[in-house]
Amino acid sequence: MMRIVLLGAPGAGKGTQCKRIVDRYGLMHLSSGDILRKERAEKTELGQKAESYMDSGGLVPDELIVEMMSGAIEQAPAAGFVLDGFPRTVNQAKELDEALTSKDKHLDIVLNLMIDDQVVMDRMTGRRSCPKCGAVYHITNLKPKVDGKCDNDGAELIQRPDDRPEVVAERLKTYHEQTEPVADYYRENGTICDVDARGDIDEITASIFEQLDVFAQA
Ligand code: AMP
Repeated sequence: MMRIVLLGAPGAGKGTQCKRIVDRYGLMHLSSGDILRKERAEKTELGQKAESYMDSGGLVPDELIVEMMSGAIEQAPAAGFVLDGFPRTVNQAKELDEALTSKDKHLDIVLNLMIDDQVVMDRMTGRRSCPKCGAVYHITNLKPKVDGKCDNDGAELIQRPDDRPEVVAERLKTYHEQTEPVADYYRENGTICDVDARGDIDEITASIFEQLDVFAQA
């Protein structure tokens, strides 16, 4: 059983690393951004409420997110989950703690992917994703086998509207103002492990697995 939070700036590689973590340990990947994009695609009430916040690079209000993610956590398998993109404010982190404590549960580890803003810019503007299955690629760092096509289903890869440079700049500002304090919160209240997220994707995965294997064996 593992309950993990992956923190880090947008573009730090959270999504890519999460997919590898869930494959290795049999956990559920709970990405608030993916869930919101699905809600938008299905034109639900929540999806429509979230739209304008997402497209401007700001955050969706805490009440909406906390309710959405509590519901998702309830459905996680006994093996556990990895939270990706949530919590993103100190208030969300506190609400998550309260929700888990009320069920006699707790987080095992918070991994904090550390990266410079310039690296984020390069990564995000080159990011492409599959609209069908959600697989993520990069035009130079993580190329699909065939340019512009998803390895899994051959769908035409797209650039997320919020990966455009002006929106990325706004998302970084939001991250520094609202999400960096979440790392400080966990430094005071739990187990946080800083991971250097600048280098080779496989090396970053290896250092994450090294940390998590300790919990998997416990
Ligand atoms: P992501 O794919 O995690 O970068 O999320 C895309 C967008 O969804 C963000 O820029 C926010 O507008 C919104 N979002 C995702 N997760 C959260 C969260 N935990 N709190 C508030 N807004 C969020």
